[in-house]
Amino acid sequence: MTTLKSAFTQNSFGESELLYSTIADVYEKIEQTTKRLEMTRYLVDLFKQTPKEIVDKVVYLTIGELYPPYVGIELGIAEKLAIKAIANSAGVSEKEVQNVFREVGDLGKTAEMLLEKRKQVTLFHQPLTVEHVYETLEKIARATGEGAQDVKIRNLSGLLNNASPKEARYLVRMVTGRLRLGIADMTVLDALAIAFGGGKEFREEVERAYNLSSDLGYVAKVIAEQGLEGIRNFRVTVGRPIRPMLAERLTSPQEILEKVGGKAIVEFKYDGLRIQAHLTPDQAWLFSRRLENLTNQFPDVVEGLREALKCKEAIVEGECVAIDPNTGEMLPFQMVAHRRGRKYGIEEMIEEIPVTVFLFDVLYVDGQDFTVRPFLERRKALEEVVEPTERIRLSEYAIVDNPEVLDDFMHKAIESGCEGVMVKSIGGDAIYQAGARGWLWIKYKRDYRSEMADTVDLVAVGAFMGRGKRGGTYGALLMAAYDKETDAFKTVCKLGTGFDDETLAALPKIFEPYKIDHKHPRVDSKIEADVWFVPAKVLEVIGAELTISPSHTCALDVIRKGSGIAIRFPRFTGRWRDDKAPEDATTVQEIVEMYRSQLKRVEE
Ligand code: ATP
Repeated sequence: MTTLKSAFTQNSFGESELLYSTIADVYEKIEQTTKRLEMTRYLVDLFKQTPKEIVDKVVYLTIGELYPPYVGIELGIAEKLAIKAIANSAGVSEKEVQNVFREVGDLGKTAEMLLEKRKQVTLFHQPLTVEHVYETLEKIARATGEGAQDVKIRNLSGLLNNASPKEARYLVRMVTGRLRLGIADMTVLDALAIAFGGGKEFREEVERAYNLSSDLGYVAKVIAEQGLEGIRNFRVTVGRPIRPMLAERLTSPQEILEKVGGKAIVEFKYDGLRIQAHLTPDQAWLFSRRLENLTNQFPDVVEGLREALKCKEAIVEGECVAIDPNTGEMLPFQMVAHRRGRKYGIEEMIEEIPVTVFLFDVLYVDGQDFTVRPFLERRKALEEVVEPTERIRLSEYAIVDNPEVLDDFMHKAIESGCEGVMVKSIGGDAIYQAGARGWLWIKYKRDYRSEMADTVDLVAVGAFMGRGKRGGTYGALLMAAYDKETDAFKTVCKLGTGFDDETLAALPKIFEPYKIDHKHPRVDSKIEADVWFVPAKVLEVIGAELTISPSHTCALDVIRKGSGIAIRFPRFTGRWRDDKAPEDATTVQEIVEMYRSQLKRVEE
C-alpha cells in the first residue's frame, strides 16, 4: 500500500490536491477529544492545509454532509448496501461482514477491520483525493430510480478499493449518515475565523454571514478566498435561507411591556408552519423553521405569493395556517402538518386542506436588505409590498402600551384559533436578529387551558353565509347558551365543522321556519350574523376547550371584565337535540362551572 507522507498529491495539471487521508487523520484526532478548543485547533490546521477552492467541500464532509442541509439531498445509504460494498472490497462474504458488524456495532470500524486483513494481500492503490471522494459521494447521493442501488454499491466499492483501513472507517460512517464527529456549527465558525479571519475575535462577523446564508461551506469559501473583507460585504441572497429570528418568552403582560420599553407591536401568534419564502421572477423557495425545503409541498403558497407580492424579488416570512375551506376559520396546527413531507397527492391536499399564509416580516426586497432595518420599517415595507389576498394575508396587529389591552388582544388571538401573541419591539435597534433568540420578540401564550371534556347543547340563533364549496348555504351557525338569570341566549361560538354534506345543503331549509330579519330580542350578541333565527333548534357540540373571549357574550364580565367565554374549535357531533327546548340548552352558569373546573396549567 502506498504510504502517504504528504497531505497533498498532484493532479495532471500539476495542482496540489488534498488527500482524503489527511482528513481521516484529523477526524481521528477529533474523535479522541471532547475539548472544543482542541477540536477547533485541529480544524484550523486542516482548513489551512486545504486548497481554497475546495474548502467548502471539506467543511461539508466534516459535518457529515455534501451540501448545506436546506438543499435536502441526503447521503445516508442503507446499511445493507454498505455491507455489500464492504464485502466486495474486502473480498469476504456479506455474512462475515454482518458477523463482525454485530460484534463491534459500528459499520465504519467493521470496514476498517476487514480491510486491515486485506492490506496484506493487496499492493496497488490510488491515493484518494478529497475531490475524488466528494464527487463519488455525490454520485452515490444523487443516484435514484432503477439501478440506483447498483450505482451506489459500485461507487462505494470503488472508493473502498482504494481506501486505507482508516479512510474506510470514515467513508463508511459518512455514507451511512453516521459520521457524527460532534463538531458544532459554532466550532466550525470559530475555526474559520481563526484560520482565515485573523483570530477568534472575528467569530461574530463570520457568524453573521452564516446566519444570513445558513451555509457553512459557502461562508468558508468566501472567507478563505476573500478574507474578512468578503465576510463584511456578505449580503442576504435570494435562495439561501436566513436563519430565523426567535423569541423569548414571558408570562406577565406587565413584564413584557417593561422589557420592550413600555410600548410595542403585538401580533397574533398563528399556530401553523413558519415559512420563509424567497422569490425571484422565475424561481421560488419555501423554507421551514428548520430550513427544510418545502417548496414542492406548497405550490399554492408560491402561486399565492406571486399574486400578492408587488415587487420582483423578495424574502418574506409568515406562518402557514390551515383554513376551514367552508367557514374561512383557522384550524389547529395538526391540520397544516398533514400538508408537510408529501411527495404525492399534492393537488388533492391543496383542495382538502387549503392554507393561508399570514405574513409577519420582510427581509429583502429588490436589492434592499431589510434585516438591518428596525421592525416598524419592515412592517411598513411589508404593507407596501403585499397586496393581501385570501391566501396571503398580513398578520393582525395592534400597538399597545397597556397590559390590559395586551391581554385583551391575546384573548382575541386565542379565540381566533391562534396560540397567543408575539410582542415585538418597535425601538430603533429592533433589527432582524437572524439565528438568535432575543428580547426583541417576546411570545406570550396562556398559562391556563380549559379543555372540554364533555359535549354541550347549544341553540342556533343566527347564521353566516357560506363561501367556496358552501356557497348558497350557511357556512356556520351562531350558537348560544341559555342564561337563566336574564332569560336570554348568549353567544358562545360559530359552528361550521362536523356537518356532513347532506345536512349542510339542507341547513337553509331546516332553519327557514325560524328565520327573522332582525336579531331576536332574547338574543344577546356582539357579533353581527348574516341571518337571524328565533332561538329554537338545539345542537350537540363538542369543542377543544373553553377560552376567554372578547367577542362572545356568554358569561360576560364573569371571569374577566369586558370578556365572555367561547368554545374554541367547536364541532357538531351530528346530534340534533330536538328533544330539548331552547331553555333546556346548556346554561351560561354551567359553562362558567365547566371553565373553572377544567382549568389546567399549561405544561410546556
Ligand atoms: P415554539 O417552540 O414555542 O413553537 P419556536 O421555538 O419554534 O417556538 P418561538 O421563538 O418560540 O419559536 O416562536 C416563534 C414562532 O412563532 C415562529 O417561529 C413562528 O413560527 C411563529 N409565529 C406565529 N405568528 C408569528 C408572528 N406574528 N411573528 C413571529 N412569529 C410567529
